[in-house]
Amino acid sequence: MTLTEVLPSIAGSLHTKLEPDVWPRSACAGPDGLSIAGISVNELAARFGTPAYILDEDEVRRRCLDYRVALPDFEIAYAGKALMCRAVLRLMAEQGFSLDVCSAGEVAAARAAGFPAERILLHGNAKTSEDWKAALGYQVGRIVVDSLDEIQQLGSLARYPQRVLIRVTPGVDGHTHKAIATGVEDQKFGFSLRSGAAMAAVDAVLAQPGLRLAGLHCHIGSQVASVAGYELAARRMVEFIGRIRDRHGVVVGSLDLGGGHAVPYLPGEQEFDLTGYAQRVRVAVNYTASALGIPALKLTIEPGRALVANAGVTLYRVVTVKGPYVAVDGGMSDNMRVALYGARYLVRLAGRPSGAPIRTVSVVGRHCEAGDVLATDVPLPSDVRPGDVLAVPVTGAYHHSLASNYNQVCRPPIIGVRDGFARPLVRRETEEDLLARDVG
Ligand SMILES: *Cc1c(COP(=O)(O)O)cnc(C)c1O
Repeated sequence: MTLTEVLPSIAGSLHTKLEPDVWPRSACAGPDGLSIAGISVNELAARFGTPAYILDEDEVRRRCLDYRVALPDFEIAYAGKALMCRAVLRLMAEQGFSLDVCSAGEVAAARAAGFPAERILLHGNAKTSEDWKAALGYQVGRIVVDSLDEIQQLGSLARYPQRVLIRVTPGVDGHTHKAIATGVEDQKFGFSLRSGAAMAAVDAVLAQPGLRLAGLHCHIGSQVASVAGYELAARRMVEFIGRIRDRHGVVVGSLDLGGGHAVPYLPGEQEFDLTGYAQRVRVAVNYTASALGIPALKLTIEPGRALVANAGVTLYRVVTVKGPYVAVDGGMSDNMRVALYGARYLVRLAGRPSGAPIRTVSVVGRHCEAGDVLATDVPLPSDVRPGDVLAVPVTGAYHHSLASNYNQVCRPPIIGVRDGFARPLVRRETEEDLLARDVG
């Protein structure tokens, strides 16, 4: 028997405390349930419907500030694919950040937000002619090239000297899920350092009169928890800059170390050691560079998840409770991460307090797949019933951007909250939106 089974009332009251690290700092558990930025989740659910992605705008700003303070000498490029909408892009522009995009659609969003073109980097392992057209049309500052075909294509398309970075695969394992480990050898991203492909790419870029080699890029993966992999990648990249200098007499002036800094999804998971990262990466770069006689490098990082994930909370309503299954009005269409990576989440009864004993349940979605699960083995009060509002934290990154219309379900809105006010940043999708594309 566990303590919570012996003393269910203790379990109930323990449950009213908010778990640290995973919720936005403005989240608060009060006598009427959870509030975020001073607004009750019941009010948010009533006004905007469920499911809804709630985004604490000041939490995003705070996280941006944490990065700016820890890395004052770095260029910070927000990886827009984590969460892309005009309000978030404008916020990033106001911070003085740069922006990663990787498609014509993301260029269009950046354009619509008025994001300065010179601060945009275009990524992608298979840029289409639409992507080239959009990026060159907006005159994005830098393009990260990822194949020899691309270097050829861009060399003939560029009508003015285009600054490019070469994406290098440094052969570093970030120890993350295989689907998001992008620094290891033998995968679709980048030019391998070890095989010599990276040097061949340098040769190819330098042979194109329309291209300027502005720097090197690497991105070892996403949800990377340890700093050691970044240190190793940084050292290898600087050594490579030394070899480029020896071979071509060209000194590459900037190094982009990508993103991927992990965030805690569950209570007790470690925050990424940003201060340690800043110190150790700086030392690794400066030490290696000075040993090789390379002048100080301009450093860039590209955080996505770390800036927005913990600012997001998804609200659902319980539709039905059947045995150990609590089914809600969303699911894999608004949270693909469980199905893609086996991601794990905390779920909280958010609309009201409950003193009922805790039981272990699975929170499942409404879609026609048995794998449509939001969280398995989560503790919830045993009186959870249809109509209850549940909240799932850490849904600010790779939730809206990975959302789908499976089962012709409309994608949820993004509701920005700040100082007691709420406003839709992205409205809920409607059935008219869905039908508008069906033209046959
Ligand atoms: C996805 C991606 C990022 C951001 O990754 P996060 O895990 O969200 O920080 C940065 N750079 C590149 C090239 C990416 O593909």
